[in-house]
Amino acid sequence: MDGSREAELPDCRTCGACCSYSREWPRFALESDEALARIPERFTDRRLHRMRCDGERCSALTGEVGVRTGCAVYEVRPDVCRECQPGDDACLMARRRFGL
Ligand code: SF4
Ligand code: SF4
Repeated sequence: MDGSREAELPDCRTCGACCSYSREWPRFALESDEALARIPERFTDRRLHRMRCDGERCSALTGEVGVRTGCAVYEVRPDVCRECQPGDDACLMARRRFGL
């Protein structure tokens, strides 16, 4: 990827749209029990096998969408969050929802 294309990609640190788009998104998939155990329990909904959400917003999301955001469990976040790439279709759909 050249530098100019990279410069066009949205910056997750001032976004957070995909983490606030749907409570159905931050679902666990094929993570091992050990990987899931590393995510602090207060941020998870083990019964529903996903991150705990407040409305549509993941409880681990910090900050204000579209301004400054972070992930409180970044180092141990679920697989689906690792797969989400800035600029892909899901990213752009989520950003549109928030007018970004
Ligand atoms: S992947 Fe896209 S929608 Fe998700 S935080 Fe990054 S820029 Fe925003
Ligand atoms: S765990 Fe982190 S990266 Fe995944 S949806 Fe929640 S805030 Fe976003």
